[in-house]
Amino acid sequence: MTFASLGLIEPLLRALETLGYQTPTPVQAQAIPAVLAGRDLMAAAQTGTGKTAGFALPLLQLLTMEGPKVAANSARALILCPTRELAEQVHASVAEYAQHLPLTTYAVYGGVSINPQMMKLRKGVDILVATPGRLIDLFRQNALKLNQLQTLVLDEADRMLDLGFSEELANIYRMLPKKRQTLLFSATFSDDIRLLAGQMLNDPLSIEVSPRNVAANTVKQWVVPVDKKRKAELFVHLMRKGRWKQVLVFAKTRNGVDALVDKLQGLGINADGIHGDKPQATRQRALDRFKASDVQILVATDVAARGLDIEDLPLVVNFDLPIVAEDYIHRIGRTGRAGNTGEAISLVCADEVNMLSAIEMLTRQTLTRKMEPDFEPEHRVPDTDASGQVVKKPKKPKKPKTSGGGGKRNLGKWVESGDVAPAEPSIKPVRKVPVFNTGPRKKK
Ligand code: AMP
Repeated sequence: MTFASLGLIEPLLRALETLGYQTPTPVQAQAIPAVLAGRDLMAAAQTGTGKTAGFALPLLQLLTMEGPKVAANSARALILCPTRELAEQVHASVAEYAQHLPLTTYAVYGGVSINPQMMKLRKGVDILVATPGRLIDLFRQNALKLNQLQTLVLDEADRMLDLGFSEELANIYRMLPKKRQTLLFSATFSDDIRLLAGQMLNDPLSIEVSPRNVAANTVKQWVVPVDKKRKAELFVHLMRKGRWKQVLVFAKTRNGVDALVDKLQGLGINADGIHGDKPQATRQRALDRFKASDVQILVATDVAARGLDIEDLPLVVNFDLPIVAEDYIHRIGRTGRAGNTGEAISLVCADEVNMLSAIEMLTRQTLTRKMEPDFEPEHRVPDTDASGQVVKKPKKPKKPKTSGGGGKRNLGKWVESGDVAPAEPSIKPVRKVPVFNTGPRKKK
């Protein structure tokens, strides 16, 4: 199959040739004709398999072939992304695909001055990539009207429909024309989000090019059990032992990111961090330097979990496991992209066993555990498997004290191998589902 056989026009084919894209990926092969036919879409495909081009190419074609010229302060298509970095990256890809087309594209997001964005929108843009908060600000300040909008894309759709964005998305929905094409793209869709998405779309086509909620099979994954207080030490040990060259590391909190970066920098390691408390320019600079291999270790919160495309990234380390299991798939999807292979290592302590279990249940796999000599945890990580069961073994009964004992001995949490406690159900992270009043849908 070729891009030409999917019906793409010559200026797009020329751009793809320059970029070295020879064959459509499976999600592109299915999505491109469907979007060109004007269908609403819910598309699930593994991380790093070309979703951006899957919606951007047909969208650019539709905007070139159909519809009126863009009016002042308007946009004809809107792509919503959960993070600023992703908005910047998606816009860069859209602009590359559009290089031979007479269309305008632009990205708006928070953390930077709004005035240049307002100026830029005056003439209108054909494709606007945006994060929700800044989009609403621009709309409220009358810098943007959305009545000309013909297509809405939610990139990382399950995250966009999640509780964190529910209020902003409900506001944005009220600004949009009812008659429009809506495209949802993500690597993961929870059942709740599927249900909600189904209500928002008009006779949607569902595309699923891989088994549901699985990580790209190009990523080799394993877990190293360790005590919480020794994680940083273990990280440095593994880094030196494995001679890691470029690693994206995920930590749970902003403080956790700062603490690890400080520790690594203190050891003379070329590390930087990104999280939501840092100014946008600093965040983007750290990411750009990491992408250019000028920074060896980038430590991040989940702000970097979604969609970021870092060429040939060999390794992702989960310093902490994510609270929401789906984020695991997105995090490790930063490696093993575009057909490359990658590795994902999770440093897991006993406190995180329920998160580990939720991840294994979601991805339907039992992650291999590899003990690192000298780092075996005192607090054992209970056994888990893909069924979602956490097997907590009972503690070894204390021996009665014998007289003349030799002082305190630390037995840690050692247990008899034959002791198996009744299985406990894993605690799945609770996600509430936002409710949108999308109003009655008019037929297109
Ligand atoms: P995405 O999943 O959209 O972030 O894309 C992942 C990576 O694959 C990006 O670096 C794209 O430039 C690249 N890519 C997307 N589609 C193709 C294709 N058909 N052929 C080769 N590379 C592609």
